[in-house]
Amino acid sequence: MEPVLIVGAGIVGLTLGQALKQKNIPFEIYERDATPDARGQGWAITLHWALEYMMDMLPEETLVRIQDVQVDPDIARSDSGNFLFINLETGEPRFKIPPNLRWRVNREKMRRALLHGIEDHVHWDRRVVGLNLPEANKVQLILADETTVTGRIVVGVEGSRSKIRQVLRPDAYNNVPLSVGFTGVAVDLTPQQIKPLREMDPLLFQGCYPRTGAFFWFSMLETPQGNGTAGTDKERYRAQICMSWPINGPEDEVAATDEGRLANMKRRAQGFVPFLQEAVERIPAETPVTEIKLGDWECLPWNNYEGRVTLAGDAAHAMTMYRGEAANHGLLDAYHLMEAIEKVYGGVASPQVAIDEFEKEMRVRTSRAVQLSRQACYDAHDWTRLDETSAILTKRAIAGE
Ligand SMILES: Cc1cc2nc3c(=O)[nH]c(=O)nc-3n(C[C@H](O)[C@H](O)[C@H](O)COP(=O)(O)OP(=O)(O)OC[C@H]3O[C@@H](n4cnc5c(N)ncnc54)[C@H](O)[C@@H]3O)c2cc1C
Repeated sequence: MEPVLIVGAGIVGLTLGQALKQKNIPFEIYERDATPDARGQGWAITLHWALEYMMDMLPEETLVRIQDVQVDPDIARSDSGNFLFINLETGEPRFKIPPNLRWRVNREKMRRALLHGIEDHVHWDRRVVGLNLPEANKVQLILADETTVTGRIVVGVEGSRSKIRQVLRPDAYNNVPLSVGFTGVAVDLTPQQIKPLREMDPLLFQGCYPRTGAFFWFSMLETPQGNGTAGTDKERYRAQICMSWPINGPEDEVAATDEGRLANMKRRAQGFVPFLQEAVERIPAETPVTEIKLGDWECLPWNNYEGRVTLAGDAAHAMTMYRGEAANHGLLDAYHLMEAIEKVYGGVASPQVAIDEFEKEMRVRTSRAVQLSRQACYDAHDWTRLDETSAILTKRAIAGE
């Protein structure tokens, strides 16, 4: 049979490729980036409830490689997995959720770990610009250089600004924006500078400033062991500091320049408990400040053309990161999609039946997740709404209903 054509070599696309390889199902991946390192992937992500599915669908060697790219291998060995949410004015914990198995991994390095063993199936610098449905049981991708490739099933996993989503829902493909501004930086810190932050939590913590609703997020990106500075006089940690805030008027919009964005972060950190205010104050003047435009997409229905085209990952369900589970949902999509595709290639089910079933489960599960993540985003910026029932805390449920 013709191969499965995967659009996008992100975490979900590569995981699906690895899973299909295990099942001897032909696949090819088309990626717009020129090389695996063309674009920094910037942040770390927590793998939690999707770990059990990853264990099932990925080869042992790949799992070991992913485990090796945890942001802090020392902490990983004894991680108690707390979820910590603090009052930014006092530094006091508001919520401390008990342990849970988690791997906090560098997203860029995880992508490289997932590439191993399927390199020959990943086509770099091949941006997908459209789709043809030439004849029954076939589907074609149109690439930016005007060439086409033919396959049996197309899977759009090219992120929250998906081209395939646009083809399937031309009337409603845009993410729905949220009225919250978000900027973040990656900074290098000496052991001395990072000490109070790591004492709060060595991997990540977040909090809200009750007076203004500003939200702060600290996350470890690299330790001296990871970046090779351990034991030298240049020993440094790399950490991510992000802030977000409600947009109530034009003055709250994200500035166009790095300088303006950094000034905004520093202004909003005024009144934070001193060690956090200092952490923001200390961000060097020339640091690039990235804006993340917050928006979501609720896995609306689409026509899958007799099971020939589908979506997964952020392309199928964009959600904000306030519950930290978008990638976990994407990995579970890959797992169920592998099962569906196996039925098709094994002649057990028609593409229509198998892909309809896959999409039905994904849609129920992730529309709920998108809504909860949106609610978590709003709750995170309103101290009065933060209680045990808040969406930022409620269990990261795999079930949709
Ligand atoms: C700050 C932040 C923190 C996060 N933390 C967590 C967390 O702790 N836990 C969690 O579960 N999730 C987290 N997430 C979400 C997580 O990063 C995403 O859900 C995940 O990366 C989505 O993977 P993906 O493979 O679906 O898409 P992507 O990672 O976006 O990959 C899409 C790929 O498709 C390629 N592409 C795009 N367009 C085309 C095209 N036209 N043709 C060919 N290729 C194309 C892109 O170059 C890219 O390589 C976080 C997100 C952010 C922003």
